Amino acid sequence: MRTAVLGGVLVTPDEVIEDAGLLIEDGKIAFVGTREELEESEDWEDELTLDEHDVILPGLINTHTHGPMTIFRGVADDLPLMQWLEEEIWPLEERLDAEKCRWGAALAAVEALKSGTTCLVDMYFYMDAVAEAYAEAGIRAVISHGMIDLGDEDKREEELKETRRIYRKCHGLEDLIEVSLGPHAPYTCSEELLREVRRLADEWGVKIQIHVAETRDEVKQVKEETGRRPVEYLDEIGLLGDDVIAAHCVWLTDEEIDTLARREVIVSHNPASNMKLASGVSPVPDMLDRGVTVTIGTDGCASNNNLDMLEEMKLAALLHKVDREDPTATKALKILKMATSWAEGVYSLAKIGRIEEGYAADLVILDGSSPRMSPCHSPVSNIVYSATGADVKHVFVGGEQVVENGRVTTVDEEEVLERARECAEQLTASNRT
Ligand SMILES: [Zn+2]
Repeated sequence: MRTAVLGGVLVTPDEVIEDAGLLIEDGKIAFVGTREELEESEDWEDELTLDEHDVILPGLINTHTHGPMTIFRGVADDLPLMQWLEEEIWPLEERLDAEKCRWGAALAAVEALKSGTTCLVDMYFYMDAVAEAYAEAGIRAVISHGMIDLGDEDKREEELKETRRIYRKCHGLEDLIEVSLGPHAPYTCSEELLREVRRLADEWGVKIQIHVAETRDEVKQVKEETGRRPVEYLDEIGLLGDDVIAAHCVWLTDEEIDTLARREVIVSHNPASNMKLASGVSPVPDMLDRGVTVTIGTDGCASNNNLDMLEEMKLAALLHKVDREDPTATKALKILKMATSWAEGVYSLAKIGRIEEGYAADLVILDGSSPRMSPCHSPVSNIVYSATGADVKHVFVGGEQVVENGRVTTVDEEEVLERARECAEQLTASNRT
């Protein structure tokens, strides 16, 4: 089946094409150009005609989140990180089960798709239930079972066993789900666990997701335990590589930034979470200057509190301007690339992040009739500084239309919201007993 997308302003993101013509074949982009060029050279069976002012961009890639935490939205705000984790989040997480994670993930998928995200990098628990929800909704995901052993050998074996189970059960599910390894952080995982993670990543050819240098306290703790700062330590034990997605990366020395660049680590910048938990400001402009691949993630809904990547892009752009007192510190096109083409290395099942021939047809169309999209002096500016997730009109994943006129086509949105609300109620009700 060949489907044409006709009209609108296309942002690839390297190029802007007015009155665009796109051809989708077998889930991939088969032609990129103007409508006129497409009409002259190709034919098709099906077509979608866009309005003149609609803006087409690659599907956004959220490189760090914990999808099921949507059911924690608003449960505990305005607390310091460790108190928030120890007194609020971890006790609630102990009450989770597969059902709650499944519906939390379904809500995450609906929210993500409706706000233009087509791929999530996700670390949590009950990941087979999560994978099922993502596959059903038709969103791509790089999932991992979040592993914490705190130096306990039995716990370590349990965590690795669950990771192997998830890998065998979910890797490649519906050609959307990619399984990765998820050691939580250098301060919650033993050196033995981290070394085993590297060995398995090499053996299976999969990615590693890990939180790194999120807070000042973490740096202190890792230093006390290992004599090294987090990035130095992870490099010394051989964990770092181009298959590593390192979330946060707030507290870094220049040497550590150079190490991240040299090892080609993919950094996930999470501005909303860092601001909300007052973790600090990640040195993103320095990382970009020194050649680190920086991408954008929302983190979980307990510390954000939404999964809107359009909002996250704006926060990423604004945070570093005010931090550096320099409005040129982070420019719109760079920010858009951080959320699309620069994040392509997080996923291996298909080529994503750009609108180019041979890439997966993961497309977002923003509604040109929205007041926030009008006028359109610069589509890139409108995407980064003005649009919100509410401006998303259509979304395609692998050529499949998963959002049509703002509605998810793959699952029953009302049912997902209702079931997720029920799970959230059960969670907090059991906490009160
Ligand atoms: Zn996180």
